[in-house]
Amino acid sequence: MILDQDIKYLKGVGPARAKTLAEELEIRTPGDLLRHYPYKYIDRTTFYSIRQLQEDMSYVQLRGQIIDFETEGEGRRRRLKATFTDGTGYLELVWFNGIKYVEKTYKLHTTYIILGKPTLFGRKFSIAHPEIEEAKGEQTPSQPMQPHYHTTEKMKRSGFTSKLLGELVKGVFEMLGAQGVPETLPEHFTKHHQLISLDAALHAIHFPHSAEVLPAAHRRLKFEELFFLQLDILRYAHNRRMKHAGFPFAKVGECFHEFFHHHLPFSLTEAQKRVIREIRHDMGSGRQMNRLLQGDVGSGKTMVALMCCLIAIDNSFQACLMAPTEILAEQHYATVRSLLGDMNLRIALLTGSTTTAERTKTLRAIESGEIHLLIGTHALIEPTVRFHNLGLAIIDEQHRFGVKQRAKLWNKNTRPPHILVMTATPIPRTLAMTLYGDLDVSVIDELPPGRKPIKTIHYYHRDQPRLIDGLRDQLAQGRQAYIVYPLIEESEKSDLQDLEAGYEQFQKLLPEYTIGKVHGKMRPAEKESAMQAFNEGRTRILVSTTVIEVGVNVPNATVMVVMEAHRFGLAQLHQLRGRVGRGAERSYCVLVTKMELSQTSRRRIAIMTESTDGFEIAEEDLKLRGPGDLEGTQQSGLPFQLHIANITRDADLMAEARQAAADVVASDPDDTHPAYAAIRQQLSKIKKERTNFSAIS
Ligand code: ADP
Ligand code: MG
Repeated sequence: MILDQDIKYLKGVGPARAKTLAEELEIRTPGDLLRHYPYKYIDRTTFYSIRQLQEDMSYVQLRGQIIDFETEGEGRRRRLKATFTDGTGYLELVWFNGIKYVEKTYKLHTTYIILGKPTLFGRKFSIAHPEIEEAKGEQTPSQPMQPHYHTTEKMKRSGFTSKLLGELVKGVFEMLGAQGVPETLPEHFTKHHQLISLDAALHAIHFPHSAEVLPAAHRRLKFEELFFLQLDILRYAHNRRMKHAGFPFAKVGECFHEFFHHHLPFSLTEAQKRVIREIRHDMGSGRQMNRLLQGDVGSGKTMVALMCCLIAIDNSFQACLMAPTEILAEQHYATVRSLLGDMNLRIALLTGSTTTAERTKTLRAIESGEIHLLIGTHALIEPTVRFHNLGLAIIDEQHRFGVKQRAKLWNKNTRPPHILVMTATPIPRTLAMTLYGDLDVSVIDELPPGRKPIKTIHYYHRDQPRLIDGLRDQLAQGRQAYIVYPLIEESEKSDLQDLEAGYEQFQKLLPEYTIGKVHGKMRPAEKESAMQAFNEGRTRILVSTTVIEVGVNVPNATVMVVMEAHRFGLAQLHQLRGRVGRGAERSYCVLVTKMELSQTSRRRIAIMTESTDGFEIAEEDLKLRGPGDLEGTQQSGLPFQLHIANITRDADLMAEARQAAADVVASDPDDTHPAYAAIRQQLSKIKKERTNFSAIS
């Protein structure tokens, strides 16, 4: 109760500070305040003297007096300087804002304890915005580890310091008294998972007696966060399973058989057969399918998708296939049409650049049910697209789809259609556990036969003659090549110039071959015709940006040249490389970089030349990127934000939390058991407070 009231009632807060806390830190209740954890701790038992100061010291504590104040500059550039001494030397204290407050508060010739990070200017040390407190008597502050809290610029200006936050936290604990912070997990649960109590964990993280108590506190708080995250995901999946009957696809019929016996251009791999069986079983079960199909680049997911669509059509349902880019959607459309050949099925394409007239016609035919299979981009989930009877929706290569966005497809029929999400394997395990945590999983763990491993070569710019020789050799054998340039938003202009310059250069160097060009800034029709020309072999080389990164499939292409390869991430390089090696010919991937590479870039290139295994590359990628870097991607797909747990770093804890959540769902399927009342309550509270769905839908 106390923890949920308005923070303005907390001693020392009041309306103005309450407003600041809400606006700056999203802290609205004492409970929120307890969850605003320190980001570091500072030793307050050691004092330095000014004479001992050295460059590169982190926070230091000094005891002395201010002997002079002086202001400099005008208006916004005004600053306040104070000369501070402890008898061993002089130090400058500087304030750029909050000057009035400082002048009013601190007095000359009073003994203060100051804390801050010293910087050397010329020969004098200076501390900007030090923390100051009056030294009372000789006693040293009792806290060996003083918590430091994140504050914002605006807070600093009004003197709302980390220290004050710490005092407020203390106030919350005092208010709670002996009863402490109420536990959010049942006792048998904390025992089983060896977690310390919430009260103990919160006390320890805010005011640790020593660093030794921190690991147990962190474990408890992280576990709790991950547990509720997983519980939310698994409850959601469970409820969906219980609630939504799926369309039962009772049979495998005429379309499927006709295709299988007369149109399939190769025999399916064992892995493809197995996943088709799994999917078929799901779709026939009477429950709604929500399945993730994982398979490395080139493993043949498209064929699986198509055959599943045929099963839907056999059962008098429509199907749709959604791709992340127009190029990919167009390619799927072309592939599917040519595979189906003369079969009596109507396929349509719908993307952002479908003309209005065409769109109107297509929308009508979708609604009337004349169209059996609709292929397209995000345009498919728009409300204007109304199906006659959608039974299966497939999402291809969509790494960043959150749980909620997938749900949009459900409303496309009276009952939610079966959903199949397809992705190449390089997704870190933990990310899969959250973004795709509510899905059943099928894996294609085998490549079609006869694939020769792709040879990956690292060249520097100066190796261009060798690159050209290699290209010429492959082109002479009738093969085709991609040459990919990076295109990064911020440097878009110069990147495009690089691409244009490269295009011209390759035209000069290889005048006997036609060269096409495709990038995101071209009009859709231009893009399409450039892709088509390459597809049909009319252009032999395609100079492009990463618009071809995912999914594009031209089996006759055997060379992938990635220019400025050091500017690409590992997952991206792997995807790009996956564009070649799709036919029976030996393929090459050439990574061209500058001479001076950072250690990370060098390692990345080395991994690429050593491995073609998507799983391995995903793991290495995660190691190289380290925690934090993935955060944007991760957070954007989560049902709610995490304060302390880190999806990358806390993979093992996540797995344990997921198992714990699965156990709860299994032993309390209806979500009514009294033993889990506290858990239930806490989850709904978290969801109310931290719902972050807006970011992903
Ligand atoms: P991805 O899983 O990356 O989406 P694709 O579906 O694009 O892979 O398939 C890659 C290539 O492999 C395509 O040219 C496709 O026709 C071919 N392919 C798929 N399955 C088989 C198979 N069983 N035997 C031979 N080639 C196959
Ligand atoms: Mg694909």
